[in-house]
This record gives sequence, structure tokens and C-alpha cells, in this order.
Amino acid sequence: MDLDVLVIGGGNAALCAALMAREAGASVLVLEAAPKAWRGGNSGHTRNLRCMHDAPQDVLTEVYSEEEFWQDLLKVTGGQTNEALARLTIRESSHCRDWMRHHGVHFQPSLSGTLHLSRTNAFFMGGGKALMNAYYRSAEQLGVQIRYEAPVDRLELDQGRFVAAYVGDERITAKTCVLAAGGFESNREWLREAWGQNERGEWPSDNFAIRGTRFNRGVLLKHLIDAGADAIGDPTQAHMVAIDARAPLYDGGICTRIDCVSLGVVVNREAERFYDEGEDFWPKRYAIWGRLVAQQPGQVGYSIIDAKALGRFMPPVFPGTQADTLPELAEKLGLDVEVFMKTINDYNAACQPGTFDHAVLDDCVTAGLSPAKTHWARPIDTAPFFGYALKPGVTFTYLGLKTDETTAVRFGGAPSSNLFVAGEMMAGNVLGKGYTAGVGMSIGTAFGRLAGVQSARAATQTGATHASA
Ligand SMILES: Cc1cc2nc3c(=O)[nH]c(=O)nc-3n(C[C@H](O)[C@H](O)[C@H](O)COP(=O)(O)OP(=O)(O)OC[C@H]3O[C@@H](n4cnc5c(N)ncnc54)[C@H](O)[C@@H]3O)c2cc1C
Repeated sequence: MDLDVLVIGGGNAALCAALMAREAGASVLVLEAAPKAWRGGNSGHTRNLRCMHDAPQDVLTEVYSEEEFWQDLLKVTGGQTNEALARLTIRESSHCRDWMRHHGVHFQPSLSGTLHLSRTNAFFMGGGKALMNAYYRSAEQLGVQIRYEAPVDRLELDQGRFVAAYVGDERITAKTCVLAAGGFESNREWLREAWGQNERGEWPSDNFAIRGTRFNRGVLLKHLIDAGADAIGDPTQAHMVAIDARAPLYDGGICTRIDCVSLGVVVNREAERFYDEGEDFWPKRYAIWGRLVAQQPGQVGYSIIDAKALGRFMPPVFPGTQADTLPELAEKLGLDVEVFMKTINDYNAACQPGTFDHAVLDDCVTAGLSPAKTHWARPIDTAPFFGYALKPGVTFTYLGLKTDETTAVRFGGAPSSNLFVAGEMMAGNVLGKGYTAGVGMSIGTAFGRLAGVQSARAATQTGATHASA
């Protein structure tokens, strides 16, 4: 019997699509590039999804209205978003959790003292790994076929219609197809091409680490764009975090984040500050520091704190470099001691008296310093001192395929009748730039579920014509 729906990818968006299509009565095959042990893509690294709600709900406190969620998205993207698709994501986020529970996902309240997300974000018990295991278990029970180590390298298309997918020489046909194969963050050649060479002759992306899976190489994204699919987004725009410079090249995940930036200062390789470390609350700023560090010489930065900061941030998994004096710290970090001491002394002298409170945008500011530190500015003067080397960590890229409320891939403005897209492969429709924590999973869940319904429906409608193909 002809297969109804082929789902390409094995993360959250793919499994949401597969489960919905199967529930709608379609036969479904999932092709996941990774081996079973590494299945689940970046979704396996996640912890939560951002949810609209009009009243407190189990793990979510207070209210997070459609309008507030929309305003948050508008602000972080600087208006580079599609309002209709953003609002679709937001509304879907308000009623997907019962369905998620039905497929074995458990939620828990957020931990206090990290990103302050108890009002806006529902946390997965056991993290993204447990969520993906639950989805795979449910999919298998429902009769979804799953193949691992099955990277699709190209599609056969007929004037915007999906005909077949190729895994090497193997040709796999289906009535409809959902593309959910992630961004291109793990494709180092493509990152190099996108970021280019800077005025110092460096290729910045050579020094990036990839926070998640090594399997999101953007092979199908490139193939589809070359085949005339409409694209959206800037290839250098991505969710990028400043992470521990000792992080592995792939899959370092959440524990390589360094969360003490706003409690101290950050200097570059020349031992000079380059940005306001206290600009805003950390959850609203952590995703820009990867780009900031990427613009520095050697793509490195050093987060410097003193003993006063200890206990006020989520401790990194590896201990920092520790010293009893600031010159000793500079030496241990390989920084020019004289320049480093001038930077710290200038900063310390510029700190104005104020009432330190890390839970609010407090009045501890610098005066006459460039760049200023506009909150939480306290002198770095209490031993022991700590330094953490930072490098840019790419979470996921925003260049994607253009789509609409039907999740159809578009060719020259015309929607395909049987090729759909979800997750990182289309997140750029909603995220032109910037990020607000948890929205990646909101987008993947909303569009994955929708793509499942659309692909199952299209398979029923087109079954007769395709059966003879
Ligand atoms: C460390 C980390 C923490 C994060 N934390 C959060 C969080 O707490 N909340 C949040 O909302 N977002 C978070 N994100 C972002 C989130 O992971 C993504 O937005 C979301 O997982 C995207 O889902 P997806 O299904 O599109 O992609 P993925 O989950 O990455 O899945 C893509 C899948 O496609 C497969 N694939 C790739 N190419 C092919 C091919 N050619 N053929 C077949 N299969 C292929 C991959 O193997 C993978 O299984 C985090 C990301 C990282 C890296």
C-alpha cells in the first residue's frame, strides 16, 4: 500500500507532525538522520515551551495573555516577524499541553533562581530527552514507522509537488511529505560562507561551537532553496549564546552556558570591555552575547566576577579560573595584566553608589564610562576573583522556507499541494532575529501539529491521483 505521509526529521516538529497525521488516520513513516541513541535533534536538549494562558494553569503561574506574548515577540524581533503566523503560534501554545500529556509528556514548575520563567514557560519533567522519548514511544504504539540513520539528501519534485525522497540511492515515495529537518547550524561550511571573513582576516564561524545536534546540516534546506522554494531570513541570524570556551564542538547543551555576565564585566582578548553587561535581565539578553563575542578578536570573551557574585547565578558545570588577586587572574587567563588592570580600575572607579538588587533593574550604574554598565554595577574588589573564557555557541539558525497558515512550502508564491514544513526549517517566518526563551518549541509544536493535520488531509484528497504514480 502506498505510504500516505513521509516525515523527514526526528525532533519535536517531526514527531508532532507524525503523531497528528497518524491520529488523523494516515500511514506515516519518519526518517531520522541520527542513530537511535542520538535521535531527537535539538529538541532533546530543551527544557520548556512558552505558553499563553489566561489564568493560572497547573505549572504556570498568573496570566500570560496573547497580547503580552505578541508584544514580547514584537520587541525581541524588532518587528521582523509575521503577525499572523506569530499569533497562530501563540494561540496554539495555549491548548497543546493536554495533547502533549496524552502522549506521555509530564510537566513540572520551573526552578527558581535561574531564568525566572514560572509565569511564561512550562518545563518538561526530565527535559527534552524525556519529551522526545515519550513521543517516540507513543508513535511506535500508534503504528508510526520509524527509521534511524536515514538522512535524506534530496527530493524529487514535480512543479512544486513532492514525488519522492532519496536516502542515498533508495527512492521513497509517499502521497505527502513534511519537512522537519532542522536548521543548518551544524553545517560548518555553510556557516563559514554566511559569516564570511572579517576585517582582521578571521573566519569567525570557525570558532563557533554548536550547542545541539551535529545532524542539522541544512542539506534539504539548501536543496529546496536551489529547487526554487521561497526562502525567508538572513543566514547570519541565529540564536547564539556565549558559552564556556571549553564546550565540545557539538551537543554541549544547556550546561555549557555561563550565566554570570550581568554580575561582573566581560572583556575581550585585548582585556577591554565592549558592551553593557547590565543592559537588561539575563533571560532577555543571554541570546545576544554569542553574536557580541563573535564580533571580538579571536571570537573570545572573558566573564570576570568577584566573590560577591557567588551564589547568585546558576553555577557552570566546569569551575572557572580562580585567583586571589586581579593581576594574578589576568595572568592565568593569558590577558595583558596592565591593560586588564586599567579596565577594571576604570570600571571600579566609575561605579556609583546604589542599592544592589539582581531581581530588579536596580540603580547601580557607572558614570563617565564607555561602554556604560547600566544596572548591577558593583566594583570588582573582593577576593577570590573568577574568570570564564567564552566563545559563541550557535543554538539554531533562522534562515528557512517561507510558509503560511497551511504550513505549505511555497514555490514562486504558490503553495505546494503536498509538501509541508515545520520547526527550525521555517522558524524564520516568526523569528527574523532575536529570541524569547521557549518560543522555539512553541513554533515547532504549533507548526508540527498543523503540518501533521494538513499532510494527512492532503494525502486523503490526493490519494487517488497519486496511487498510479
Ligand atoms: C542546548 C539547547 C537548548 C534549547 N532549549 C530550548 C528550550 O528550553 N525551549 C525552546 O523552546 N527551545 C530550546 N531550544 C531550541 C529548540 O531546540 C528548537 O527550537 C527546536 O527543538 C526545533 O525543533 P525541530 O524539530 O525543528 O528541530 P530538531 O529538534 O533539531 O530536529 C531536527 C531533526 O532533523 C533530523 N535531520 C536533519 N537533517 C536531516 C535529513 N537530511 N534527513 C533526515 N533527518 C534529518 C535531525 O537528526 C533531527 O532529528 C534549545 C536548543 C538547544 C541546542
